[in-house]
Amino acid sequence: MNSDCVFCKIVSRSIPAPLLYEDEQVVAFRDISPQAPAHLLVIPRQHFVDLPSLIAAGEEALAGRLLKVATQVAREQGLVESGFRTVINTGEHGGQSVFHLHVHVLGGRHLAWPPG
Ligand code: 5GP
Ligand code: ZN
Repeated sequence: MNSDCVFCKIVSRSIPAPLLYEDEQVVAFRDISPQAPAHLLVIPRQHFVDLPSLIAAGEEALAGRLLKVATQVAREQGLVESGFRTVINTGEHGGQSVFHLHVHVLGGRHLAWPPG
């Protein structure tokens, strides 16, 4: 728990956010500023700053679990057939703004590629 971290506060329920999924390691909720008709965030309960931090901690299994839950919530939102995008932004060039690892799940419209 990082007391300055907005996503730790969502995990600890001190900031209210309806959870679409939760288990002992992972939670999922809607992005507050959706960039697509469906825009969900999947995060570990434990505070890791970013993907390199998670991997440096030897947490490959948790990385896999985040992707499994991302797929599960995408399926529940009806995104699998039409397609969806998973994104993990890292650092300044990656456009990361919240420094608690999160997987974006975006869908419900055609998404452009390449990203800006
Ligand atoms: P990043 O830019 O770090 O990849 O993504 C951070 C995401 O977190 C942004 O899409 C932003 O809208 C979302 N976000 C920031 N603060 C909150 C919040 O308090 N609640 C929720 N649900 N999403 C948030
Ligand atoms: Zn955190």
